[in-house]
Amino acid sequence: MISLGRLHGWLRSARTWLAFGILAPIGMVALSGVMLADLRQDAWDRAEQTSRNLVQVLERDIARNIEIYDLSLRAAVENLAAPGLAEAGPRLRQLILFDRAATARDMGVMLVIDEHGQILDDIGAVPPRQGNYADRAYFKVHEDHDGLGLYVGRPIVSRLTGEPMLPFSRRINKPDGRFGGVVLGSVKLSYFTHLFSEIDLGPRGAINLYLTDGTRLMRYPYEAADLGANIAKAATFKRFMRERQGRFVSTSVRDGIERAYTFTRIGALPLILNVALATQDVEADWLAKAVVIGGIVLVLCGLTIALSFLFGRELRRREAAQDALAALSRTDPLTGLPNRRCFEDRFARAAEAARHGGQPLSLLIVDADHFKRYNDRYGHPVGDEILKGLARSLAASVHRPQDLVSRIGGEEFAILLPDTDAAGAGRIADRVHAEVAALAVGSAGIGAGAVTVSIGLACMGPDGGRGAAPPDLYRLADGALYEAKHGGRNQTRMAAAQAAAAPSQRGPLQLVKTS
Ligand code: GH3
Ligand code: MG
Ligand code: MG
Repeated sequence: MISLGRLHGWLRSARTWLAFGILAPIGMVALSGVMLADLRQDAWDRAEQTSRNLVQVLERDIARNIEIYDLSLRAAVENLAAPGLAEAGPRLRQLILFDRAATARDMGVMLVIDEHGQILDDIGAVPPRQGNYADRAYFKVHEDHDGLGLYVGRPIVSRLTGEPMLPFSRRINKPDGRFGGVVLGSVKLSYFTHLFSEIDLGPRGAINLYLTDGTRLMRYPYEAADLGANIAKAATFKRFMRERQGRFVSTSVRDGIERAYTFTRIGALPLILNVALATQDVEADWLAKAVVIGGIVLVLCGLTIALSFLFGRELRRREAAQDALAALSRTDPLTGLPNRRCFEDRFARAAEAARHGGQPLSLLIVDADHFKRYNDRYGHPVGDEILKGLARSLAASVHRPQDLVSRIGGEEFAILLPDTDAAGAGRIADRVHAEVAALAVGSAGIGAGAVTVSIGLACMGPDGGRGAAPPDLYRLADGALYEAKHGGRNQTRMAAAQAAAAPSQRGPLQLVKTS
């Protein structure tokens, strides 16, 4: 379990908010992406279902009607052989030959045509209307071939009514099997127009009816120019032929619009029906939603990124301010050196590290000599200037990054020298004297050599481990400083080896007396 403290720490880290600012938008985009993909799939599923149902219903309607017409054609062919037909009067003949189904609304003409192409019987008129059809394709094809069954021809304009029709025909055989003419029925193309027109397929949707030779019989929405066009060579049509029924997405050869085609053959007839929904229409509603959802998500992502960024920046600013404050609380304002607090921390850590690492640690306490006099003589501000000068001199005396020069009191400084033995510390003390000797404050007429310092030096030796604690070292250095003062100032004293009472072998500190 995450502890509350750690959670608090995370929440206060600028990095956490930066990560949040990146991950949250990625998450949002991914989630909405999945959601939109799902919605799109739903739209396609619905469209597919609709198309499938539609194709099925239309196919059944067309197949059933044509079947009924075909039954009428068959009846007429059979009834032509009915006994007594030759003797029947024209009205009776019409009644015998044609049944009522053939008078349905969308039925065009129904004729019995003799082997010379002349109309023998006409469902629409007694006596029959006159005309010769020997030139029609449906006539010739039956004349040339026996056993075609029901022949569905290309659309024609009726010579009797002037309307466009789809002709259906069956051959009449004479008793001896020779060609005896055809029975012709036709369906008005308006039948398909009516059938299709009730259906809403969106602005770019279409329904097409083809003959298997590629001739377009009808297209909805209706345009006269579309009828009779042959698309046998188009890839879409080849697929219609190959698969009998199915569904695919393709670009229309007619208008270049991408559509999803659901298609089927109509019964055993040479007819292909397809319902084509434009991709754009299928996705229109989804796209509108996607734009809104996508827009909202993007705005939210933008806001999240912006807020996380601002929040992170604020946190960084606060961290920086805290750091600056912390640094300030450890810095002496007059000299810019680390202050006593900082010294104490670093001293404790350095002593600990020295004990662990078995390294020597030296401490110099540097005190300005007779400093009170400068204040008295030149005034406090000049005293401050001298203190700043002393700080620079001390700082110039050490060079290793781990050495610490700090101001620990009014005119008292400490120099902490990790990994430095007594001899090394002595050299640093000499350098301090030399640097201070060069110190001058021109504005007050204080020349080089006027300011001096006394230094107390103590060193914790490499084998001085265990019992050694910072106060001991400090106390020893302070004692040495006292001696330096009493010895006449402007000099360095090393702390006496922790008295004879504590031999160097045993004692916590190995102290060397040099002067
Ligand atoms: P000694 O050689 O024995 O150290 O004599 P001293 O005068 O340096 O020692 P003492 O401790 O008697 O006086 C220290 C003086 O340092 C007293 C005070 O006026 C002065 N002092 C302490 N802090 C500051 C400071 O920040 N600025 C200035 N100008 N003087 C300071
Ligand atoms: Mg002093
Ligand atoms: Mg002092």
